[in-house]
Amino acid sequence: MSAARCNPRNERMKPGIMSKARLQAGMCLLTGMVLAGTMVAVTKADRVTERAKQLHFSSIVVDTHDDTTQRFLDREFDLGARNALGSIDIPRMKAGGLGAIFFSIWIPSKITGPEAVKRGRAQIDAVREQVQKHSADLVLVSTADGIREAHNQGKIAALMGIEGGHLIASDLGVLRVYAALGARYMTLTHSGNAEWADSSTAKPVHHGLTQFGKDVVREMNRLGMIVDISHVSDKTFADVLEISKAPVFASHSDCRAICDAPRNMSDDMIGALAARGGVIQINYHVGFLSQEFRNAEKAHPEWDKAIAMEVQNRCRDREGCQLIEGDRITREYVLRGDLPRVEWTKIIEHIDHAVKVAGIDHVGLGSDFDGANMPFGMEDATKLPQITNALLERGYSEGDVRKILGENTLRLMAEVERISRELNAGN
Ligand SMILES: [Zn+2]
Repeated sequence: MSAARCNPRNERMKPGIMSKARLQAGMCLLTGMVLAGTMVAVTKADRVTERAKQLHFSSIVVDTHDDTTQRFLDREFDLGARNALGSIDIPRMKAGGLGAIFFSIWIPSKITGPEAVKRGRAQIDAVREQVQKHSADLVLVSTADGIREAHNQGKIAALMGIEGGHLIASDLGVLRVYAALGARYMTLTHSGNAEWADSSTAKPVHHGLTQFGKDVVREMNRLGMIVDISHVSDKTFADVLEISKAPVFASHSDCRAICDAPRNMSDDMIGALAARGGVIQINYHVGFLSQEFRNAEKAHPEWDKAIAMEVQNRCRDREGCQLIEGDRITREYVLRGDLPRVEWTKIIEHIDHAVKVAGIDHVGLGSDFDGANMPFGMEDATKLPQITNALLERGYSEGDVRKILGENTLRLMAEVERISRELNAGN
């Protein structure tokens, strides 16, 4: 998850300040409160060549992590209209050539048990209802072939990922229900530990995965759900690689070598993930992209508190609002020079680094749109063609760019599906 500014903070600081939770709520009818100019990017659109456009719009562009789901819970949000706030809606997905999007089903780690399941199911229902309502543009799919078919029909493929193992309330039956309803991956933890797995941003209590946690991974393999290791502790990651029969991915994580966040991946981890056929999906959140931004935030914890309070004032408990407002207020801090300005090209640095470590077949895109703080120049989905343009400028071949945009994820999904079939056949 991720919510916009808030989220990022949530993700990193977890206790207290804003957690994604904040985000969920609502949509923020911020309309009136927005300070003109602060939220929408002030940067000039970078030039995108005709060749880049042609390549981008003929590729299947997959984004493995978006928190727009939190906004669906607000009746005033219209996915079909171009919104002034946030990063994702149908017009902007089309304008940016986004072909497949994984909507995150997320609740804060502190919510557990029956309440977690209730809210998880409500979000799945909200995604399914949105797809139904906008069936001329969206189609709910859960397989790699489904994504390709949607692309051929000129529709955007909508998928779901569960963000946080706490959402299953320690019940494999709940996991199976989520899978049956269309959830295609599960992030084993969010910012806090799950009952059976340690997070990278909480005090370890399980030493990685518990026995039940290992059963969860095995059941996900059987169900054909991708095991997502974003957010988990290094030990949980190592346990997953040992147990999982299928390749796994990080749905929204960056490179620790560039920005030393515990939630990012070390080069060793990226290499191990790739060696097992996995994919690291690069996250656009400034606090994971930029060491400078992260240092500035750490140096001024009072700002985080102030931002959290302001978000609370504006949104109360509406988490969708919290995510969007958190991002907007953070940008105000940047514009007045308190926090460093991070440019979208930082995303390309992380892609480049991950490709060097993992190889071209193991890197993709997991934006964290609508759940994190976006860099300048990547405010919303309309900016995605710039990534293609920048990769071509750096000398990537067209085939390599297609892999990063989505083909690597499609290959991984197909492999996870194949292994699921084998396991179900008893092989
Ligand atoms: Zn997240």
